[in-house]
Amino acid sequence: MKASSDPEAVCVDEELDSLFYRLIEVDESIALNMIIVLIGAPGAGKGTQARLLEERRGLPQISTGDMLRAIARTETPIAKEVRAVQASGKLISDDLVIRVVQERTSREDCKGGFVLDGFPRTIVQATMLENLAFEQHQKVVAALVDVQFDLLEMRATGRRSCPVCGEIYNIHFKPPQKDNVCDLHPEAELIHRADDTPEKIKVRLATYEQQTQPLIDYYEASKRLWHLDGTREADVIYAELDKLLNQEGHQTSDGEARN
Ligand SMILES: [Zn+2]
Repeated sequence: MKASSDPEAVCVDEELDSLFYRLIEVDESIALNMIIVLIGAPGAGKGTQARLLEERRGLPQISTGDMLRAIARTETPIAKEVRAVQASGKLISDDLVIRVVQERTSREDCKGGFVLDGFPRTIVQATMLENLAFEQHQKVVAALVDVQFDLLEMRATGRRSCPVCGEIYNIHFKPPQKDNVCDLHPEAELIHRADDTPEKIKVRLATYEQQTQPLIDYYEASKRLWHLDGTREADVIYAELDKLLNQEGHQTSDGEARN
């Protein structure tokens, strides 16, 4: 600390400090809103968290897949571009995806922040998102719903559903009372999705890991990655996420809590 023995210097310091913090407050109050990048392997429960964020915090869920499909049906210049790329069978370029995200998130409902699902997929897209966040005065945080792969495999291979009521069972974690039939519809044999074989699940998880690890590293390196233990109940996971968001909001709006 500097010259704390000089009362005048302390006074000036305090004034400067308080001015500084007020400036931060003014500046950061605009930036209170957060862009939440949700990351999670297939079956980790990322979609449930996105739904809860929408229901309980009013944060719209922006899924690039859904958006591209919706845009392709409109009559705008960007829609023509999306249709042309889709028709050619090529991948949608980073540049085009970011423009779609930019267009969607510039609407009124995203002013208070939003949740991204399926974007960014690459480091290039993540960098583009930083620029977008800067323009929109928003802050990017990443939340990883983390579940170890062997558990995800058991979740997926054990999953069975009732064809009548849609009730979901799991032969490992939530078995029906009688083998392979719904508790409420004993006449209905439970369905096992063809996609839920161990081989297919392993491929899905390997693809996820390969695509996502660089992004996890990226957000980890900039200390913006929240690890959420995804083996817990959805409500418990959400409570932690909610708390982290409140803390983050508090930090950015209150100068004292910085660092
Ligand atoms: Zn049933």
